Amino acid sequence: MDIALLSLSSCLGCQMVFLSLEEYLYELIGGNRVVYAPFLMDKKELHHADLALVEGTVRNTEHFLKAREIREKADRVVALGTCSCFGGVQGLADLYPESRLLRSRFGDTAFEGGPQGVRRLLPLDSFIRVDAYLPGCPPVPALLEGFLRSAVSGDRLSREGATVCAECKVTSPPLPQPGPRRLTEGSGEPGKCLLDSGFFCLGPLTRDGCGALCPSGMGVPCRGCRGPSGRVLERKGADVEGETVRRLARATGKKEEEIRAEVPDPAHTYYFFCLAEPLLRKRRSGGTSPYLHRLGE
Ligand code: SF4
Ligand code: SF4
Ligand code: SF4
Repeated sequence: MDIALLSLSSCLGCQMVFLSLEEYLYELIGGNRVVYAPFLMDKKELHHADLALVEGTVRNTEHFLKAREIREKADRVVALGTCSCFGGVQGLADLYPESRLLRSRFGDTAFEGGPQGVRRLLPLDSFIRVDAYLPGCPPVPALLEGFLRSAVSGDRLSREGATVCAECKVTSPPLPQPGPRRLTEGSGEPGKCLLDSGFFCLGPLTRDGCGALCPSGMGVPCRGCRGPSGRVLERKGADVEGETVRRLARATGKKEEEIRAEVPDPAHTYYFFCLAEPLLRKRRSGGTSPYLHRLGE
């Protein structure tokens, strides 16, 4: 199988995970060919790939043309990483006017003749057809390995799944607990559910697959880096912010309005990795549109 790896606007973190696959990487390149990967090898042009892994987002016309070219030349296109699947952290750019973003990064430097920016950040499948998704910021290596094993054997790869809570080995603490709390405001009791302990843990709304790495493995709340679960995406009534607020109100014994009043940055708190996801933007209630100031939506 011929494999291509391609970055749009990205931090290259997902490709770094590809490189960190160690023994499996040798096995993979022993039986297959990496035919195009500008980050890894000096190959200027892609002719054809059976499988293309695309990380990052489309932020300008150059990225769009690249994405379209890979769609034309690859049999199967995989959205690799949460940026590509849901817009990822880059979706937060839509909270601000583009002029402000450019000024804060480059000062008053004038840009002429460069690629034109897109009007808003969107996942890859808003621009081209995508055959499979592997979210994660970045995807954990074991997940990428399992995914590649399935992909090279021709298995169908899907977007369905359960939540991080299903993989998390904790029990509930006695209520009420102090909160709402962030990681910098204390630590939970080991082995106890962080959301029930008053922390902003997005495990109930985040897709599974990482083995609950943060809450179960490190005792820190899930921030949602694997993106929304299938239930959140598919059920129109699912509301990431509302459900988290309800759970925190129950955990702390406070009213929901009190919890909301203590969150000055709801877009960053609840939608850090998925503000750009169109399925959440379209919701009449419980969606992300109230936060998309850049577009006046
Ligand atoms: S998903 Fe995360 S690791 Fe991958 S390119 Fe985006 S920001 Fe980087
Ligand atoms: S700690 Fe977080 S991920 Fe684990 S069960 Fe509680 S809410 Fe779910
Ligand atoms: S627990 Fe949450 S933030 Fe941590 S790796 Fe899993 S999905 Fe990402």
